[in-house]
Amino acid sequence: MNQTRETQPTLMQADQLTRHYTSARGPFAPKAIVRALEGISFELHPARTLAVVGESGCGKSTLARQITFIETPTSGSIRLDGKTVALDDRAALKQARAQVQIIFQDPYGSLNPRKKVRAILEEPLIINTKMSSAERRERVDWMMQKVGLRPEFGVRYPHMFSGGQRQRIAIARALMLNPKVVVADEPVSALDVSVQAQVLNLLMDLGEEFGVAYLFISHDLSVVRHIADDVMVMYLGRAVEVGAKQILFDTPLHPYTRALMAATPHIDPTARKVRMAVNGELPSPLDPPSGCAFHTRCPYATDRCKSERPELREVGQRQIACHRAEEVLTLEAAQTQD
Ligand code: SF4
Repeated sequence: MNQTRETQPTLMQADQLTRHYTSARGPFAPKAIVRALEGISFELHPARTLAVVGESGCGKSTLARQITFIETPTSGSIRLDGKTVALDDRAALKQARAQVQIIFQDPYGSLNPRKKVRAILEEPLIINTKMSSAERRERVDWMMQKVGLRPEFGVRYPHMFSGGQRQRIAIARALMLNPKVVVADEPVSALDVSVQAQVLNLLMDLGEEFGVAYLFISHDLSVVRHIADDVMVMYLGRAVEVGAKQILFDTPLHPYTRALMAATPHIDPTARKVRMAVNGELPSPLDPPSGCAFHTRCPYATDRCKSERPELREVGQRQIACHRAEEVLTLEAAQTQD
């Protein structure tokens, strides 16, 4: 995955995606609004990977459900190949869903245990194309080979495969329709460490070959460092730092990004020099803190942080939502000397 973003067309453009849910608080209390996603924007390009990272509950999976059209965003728009998807038009959604596929964390749970692998892989072709059965058979055989499985294994059921092989089947299914975008939602976190690298390398090779754009969701920064071109760090439904992987890993500037990096073994950016911990639990999205949502856990929070929400802005070749982005490294150095 090494093409530059500037030379590549935009396959998907998400603009200000927002998703709120209502939640009952009790029989007499008014319903609460859960702000799961607030104003997320990004672009995806062929053979490039945008990794979305953050703690569980930060909105990563909500984002995945919006851009795969499993749910409809409360507001915001999604453009696929330059055209805005009409989110209230069933035919347009069916077409869009074929262009954006998803690979889930648990390959066993996402594959129908009662169907043979060949039927699982054929299904998207039956629903979305007019291919003859001979053409479908040929495509299934070819795709199984692409993901490193022998076509004769197509008569077996998912439980007859190892976890890594099942994830290969899920990758094959995701690519059957030549999608423009694949959302990979923690695709290797359920696998043994020994097979994680094989599956990641397969994903990257196929992304390159098929010109697919990946949105890669992960809480594991070692995996993100291996696969991403660009990184978006999310906190309580909002993007807090976005930029090229090298820039974010070399010099993370948002205190939350720095804390995530410091907590990850085998990563040695400047953040590793300071064992900055994220204090406390992730606040509830039902009642997010005022101002900067990270202020309850940030060692550099000021009164301004408590009352005024920082918007994403350009600082040193990345976008960051922090009032004190320019001071963070100095603040941290001073703290280390104390
Ligand atoms: Fe910390 Fe303030 Fe920056 Fe938020 S805006 S991350 S509270 S310094």
